[in-house]
Amino acid sequence: MTDSTPSGLSEIAFQLGQAGLRLAEAGAAEGAAGNMSVCVRHPLETASLFPQVNAIELPHPVPGLAGMMLMVTGSGRRLREVAEAPLANVACVVVEPGGKSGRLFTSPQAQFKRVTSEFNSHLAVHHDRMRSSDVKLHTVLHAQPLHLTLLSHQDEYQDEKFLNRRLLRWQPETILNMPEGIGVVPFLLPGSAQLVVETQLSLREHRIVVWARHGVMARADDSILHASDLIEYAETAAHYEFLNRLSGEPGGGLSPEEIRDICRMWNVKQGIF
Ligand SMILES: [Zn+2]
Repeated sequence: MTDSTPSGLSEIAFQLGQAGLRLAEAGAAEGAAGNMSVCVRHPLETASLFPQVNAIELPHPVPGLAGMMLMVTGSGRRLREVAEAPLANVACVVVEPGGKSGRLFTSPQAQFKRVTSEFNSHLAVHHDRMRSSDVKLHTVLHAQPLHLTLLSHQDEYQDEKFLNRRLLRWQPETILNMPEGIGVVPFLLPGSAQLVVETQLSLREHRIVVWARHGVMARADDSILHASDLIEYAETAAHYEFLNRLSGEPGGGLSPEEIRDICRMWNVKQGIF
């Protein structure tokens, strides 16, 4: 399986399918939980795979994405089924000038009427990244990993510093994979404008954010599989933390000094330990 930057629509859809399977295997996308999108700076030809076209209002204004194309999962679809039937589960959106509306391209096989209800947060995060960098392709992923979400129900883990110092101490690589740490936003109504704002701000500073009492959102350049990796790393860290607590906290994890040494050795800047 390749995780390099996909160059065509079917390659992007293939990677969405692989990410959907990985999240489902990890128990982070039960039923219709979770959603995924990819933003492509230079639009690809959509009409052959997605011949149906409808004008739509975008749920969040994105003037900086005008002319760009997104591939996004449909509302109520199962991420684990994207691999076997991408045309039934994903759509393309090309953003119109002004960034308030778009053209929605779907297949006759589409099993949904609208794209994911979290599309507003996806758009805001893509908008930030595509404007502040020259990446050709940017990906956003929302999932609900069990241990990370469970810990986010405890008040102390809603403190960003506490959560990071607890979770990033179990494996030497975790801090290297996410030197900015994990962002945390309080519980906000799914799909709400407030969640969009908080997510956008947190994902400016981090590559992954915990939505307290709900799940996570991750972003990555080049491939949705890199965003899915981040979720796996964070969820593995939360699983260690959960098991350690469950067994009466016998382990202290890597010490702050050890983690600082690791970062020095790999020349990674971090501000958590
Ligand atoms: Zn959710």
